[in-house]
Amino acid sequence: MKKGNKNKNEADNLTLNFKVGLGFDIHRFSQDKRRKLILGQVKINHVGLEGASDADVLLHAICDAILGATIGKDIGTFFPPEKSKGISSKKIAQKVMKMIEGKFKIINIDVVIIAEKPKLSPFIPKMIKNIKKIFRCDVNIKAKNTEGVGNLGDGIASIATCLVEKINNNKNKK
Ligand SMILES: [Zn+2]
Repeated sequence: MKKGNKNKNEADNLTLNFKVGLGFDIHRFSQDKRRKLILGQVKINHVGLEGASDADVLLHAICDAILGATIGKDIGTFFPPEKSKGISSKKIAQKVMKMIEGKFKIINIDVVIIAEKPKLSPFIPKMIKNIKKIFRCDVNIKAKNTEGVGNLGDGIASIATCLVEKINNNKNKK
């Protein structure tokens, strides 16, 4: 009995300190051929994605994963389209970091980009560099195509997970 209780307490402590988040986003390719494709804040010479902001589907999925693990809401709540017109998704990401500052530390981010085109592997090292800089954690990115299945060729989707650790600063609590 006693041993069981101890294990239960240990489990409670773990759930208190670590949380995972999951984020998903998808954007359609723009009709405006002049719009640039921006993924992980890397400008890619290919027609861009539709969206109020720069439509960085990668950063949006990551922000949703982080918010899911920490505050429990999505970026649409804090950055509705009318408030994000023309802004860089880096700004959105920096605001998300500000919201969790001093409360959570991000341990790692793992992302999948689902895109039929363009070929993304040459851009991934730069994306990882940019994302590490914004979120200050370990980052991994994989690009997958859709094997020509369905209509995913009309846009780009992204799925992100993150692990966060709650910062224990009881004395700073109000
Ligand atoms: Zn988005």
